[in-house]
Amino acid sequence: MEKIAVFPGSFDPFTVGHESIVNRASKLFDKIIIAIGLNPKKDALFTLEERKNFIRQVFEDNPKIEIVHFEGLTVEFCKRVGAGYILRGLRTSADFEFERAIAQVNKSMHKEIETVFFLTITEHTPINSSIVRDIYRHGGDISKFIPSKMKLNKS
Ligand code: ADP
Repeated sequence: MEKIAVFPGSFDPFTVGHESIVNRASKLFDKIIIAIGLNPKKDALFTLEERKNFIRQVFEDNPKIEIVHFEGLTVEFCKRVGAGYILRGLRTSADFEFERAIAQVNKSMHKEIETVFFLTITEHTPINSSIVRDIYRHGGDISKFIPSKMKLNKS
């Protein structure tokens, strides 16, 4: 059976931390669906189309990667697309506490879906989209925090 994993997130914007997780997971799964969750509580800096385009640029040569968006519960989305795994990244103990609760609740809702955690590589530990957004908003250079293939051309 095809091993399909969903990597859910806001990806506002996609960073080298996200890229690294997808590349590492790519060795373990047949297909990875990068799923941009639409969260009405979060005000995004980049539009959905911009975020999708950024991610497309990064993985244009990787046929295992699909990029979509979804609304609602991640586990329900996984069931719809036939995914058995949810990918998440862990940077700190704060990430762990947050992710533990979500993964355990997801497991209690759908016990056939496993959450798989990737511990970030050391140099990506401090990188998160919200810091990258702040640097970008203030005109700083974010090139070292985003994948080299990703070109931002927001006006
Ligand atoms: P969310 O709003 O779901 O937290 P994000 O786009 O911020 O969405 O993150 C998506 C996933 O990527 C989360 O599991 C997060 O922990 C992980 N992640 C974010 N930044 C990094 C990083 N620098 N290294 C490893 N994992 C990361």
